[in-house]
Amino acid sequence: MENTKRSEHIVLATHSNLKYPESLPLDWGNQDPIKRGPVVASNTNPRARNAIGSHSGSYAVFRALSIASGKYKPSHKPDLNNTFSPVKIGPYPSWNDSTKIVSLDPWGLDPQLHFKDLFDKGYDIRPSIAVTQAHLQLHEIHEAIDKGRLKMDGKVVLANKDVKVTKVAIEPVWYLPAMAARLGTDEGSLRRILFTESGGMYPELITRPDLKVWLPPIGSTTVYIFGNPADLSNPNVELSCRVHDECNGSDVFGSDICTCRPYLMYGIEHAAECAQRGGVGIIAYYRKEGRALGEVTKFLVYNARKRQEGGDSAATYFKRTECVAGVEDARFQEFMPDVLHFFGIKKIHHLHSMSNMKYDAIVGSGIEVINRVSIPDHLIPADAQVEMEAKKAAGYFNKGDVKKGEELASVKGRDIE
Ligand SMILES: [Zn+2]
Repeated sequence: MENTKRSEHIVLATHSNLKYPESLPLDWGNQDPIKRGPVVASNTNPRARNAIGSHSGSYAVFRALSIASGKYKPSHKPDLNNTFSPVKIGPYPSWNDSTKIVSLDPWGLDPQLHFKDLFDKGYDIRPSIAVTQAHLQLHEIHEAIDKGRLKMDGKVVLANKDVKVTKVAIEPVWYLPAMAARLGTDEGSLRRILFTESGGMYPELITRPDLKVWLPPIGSTTVYIFGNPADLSNPNVELSCRVHDECNGSDVFGSDICTCRPYLMYGIEHAAECAQRGGVGIIAYYRKEGRALGEVTKFLVYNARKRQEGGDSAATYFKRTECVAGVEDARFQEFMPDVLHFFGIKKIHHLHSMSNMKYDAIVGSGIEVINRVSIPDHLIPADAQVEMEAKKAAGYFNKGDVKKGEELASVKGRDIE
């Protein structure tokens, strides 16, 4: 089945009679990787594909530009020599439950090891998960050390104040029947809506009901682990966890309208500290910018908030988002815990999140949460008081006072300058 030169002939996999013997069956949740089958979505041999979409889905268009410019050989197959994970992760019982992990492929980690025979037969199977190690240099962490909150132990925090981590990149791989079930809808309806909302990009969603897996063109999730990754699955080891949705403006650029970066750094400090006292820490970073509404919508909302009569106010915080975006929040945290189940997590001792949606999704997925940690007041930037008070008033978890009525309306942000 070796296919070194990609043919100009385009195979539209839009008829369910286009099943080839090379296309391996997938039995999602089967504990034997060979019986479960590898997800094959590479383009070097379209006859072997058993999934809709393509790897690194959100980058497929850039790959296309590289091919169009003549700089990238479409027949290229990655040389996976020495790319395997430096630490062992799984398999865990959660990998064998077809309802626990539905939005990523646990066997997408080091497929060259799990499916060696198939690689030898020429199958072009690509990893959808990769693990590596790194050192973090963060000024908030340096400050925590300088102020005596965090110590340099030479293991988690080194003498030069670097924090040692294991980091894991996870691409989305969606098993559609179980995703539909979790959303409380039927698979046919979900496939039809996904097809329509993506502008008809993936006709197979409609025409190939036999293909159950889709690699959607959305961002990946990155996980940072502090301490021993194997400890994440041990409920007797103290675990500190922050589940963080991307906010580029705050996380990277330090924009002061929200609490995203301060909360993230607080989570990192606690994760490192927890690892130092024999526990383990995890930060899961989901590419769901602007409550999964996108940054353009987010910036429009900022302007609408600041220009409304009476200025930016905690009392109208959620309403302004809904006016522009149609919903307050498009994140639907139902699939977020899949990443935690990938690491076999059963118990979280300290959950750094004020979101009830996140808490409910985690607990609803069968993970026990002992303690919820909200961001301390002194870490909240002045202009972010609007967001914070609005969230508290809307029932987000916190241990402090909740403002109502006029008091809530009196929490104001900066005007447009
Ligand atoms: Zn933010």
